Amino acid sequence: MGSLKPVIPRPLIVVLALVLAACGLTRPPSMDAAEEDSFEDDVRTARTLTEEFWKQQFDRLGETYRPIADFIPYSGTSGPSCGGEPSVPNNAFYCPVGHFIAYDQDWMEALWNEMGDGSVYLIIPHEFGHSVQAQLGTGFELNVQMELQADCYAGGTLSALVNSGALTAQPGDENELLLSLAAAGDPTDDWLNPAAHGTAEQRQQAFVQGYRGGVGAC
Ligand SMILES: [Zn+2]
Repeated sequence: MGSLKPVIPRPLIVVLALVLAACGLTRPPSMDAAEEDSFEDDVRTARTLTEEFWKQQFDRLGETYRPIADFIPYSGTSGPSCGGEPSVPNNAFYCPVGHFIAYDQDWMEALWNEMGDGSVYLIIPHEFGHSVQAQLGTGFELNVQMELQADCYAGGTLSALVNSGALTAQPGDENELLLSLAAAGDPTDDWLNPAAHGTAEQRQQAFVQGYRGGVGAC
């Protein structure tokens, strides 16, 4: 699909230092091979590539990947409920009851504008990570462990897509992804809060672990 530009992994500490040093963000160049695309294109590409990746992974293990039943954009409070729980603004989620993913498109498009397309290529693979956990029957005692594994899956998915040439990483993309994670991190290390996603640093470490070692390292 496009030219392959291998990503040379930097030590985590350097990555984090660059993340901390970066401010005054401008929209970085596009991450996928086609380059000129809209928010909707990026969302569609992220979904398609992520599902193709997981289908291959399941095939390799002799398992059958079950595609999500629906992929639902919403605005504000208009989203679908999940098991009786209403959806909330500024969120994306996987619902195990209906095996679907839904996302606040206004919120995600704002992130796409502010932080670049890496935000879409992070959030969508993260939610697909939850759908894979559901299919594999992965259970954790603490919610944060589920969340960090989904971040790790997102990292593993993205590195596989970059290595296959489906996505092209450009200088700055790695930082863009890590900044998106930092923005999504919980402000405190609140491990017992069921809603906790982990601190920004924990999320970055989980993402980098998957990015370097692949989904098998998650
Ligand atoms: Zn999550």
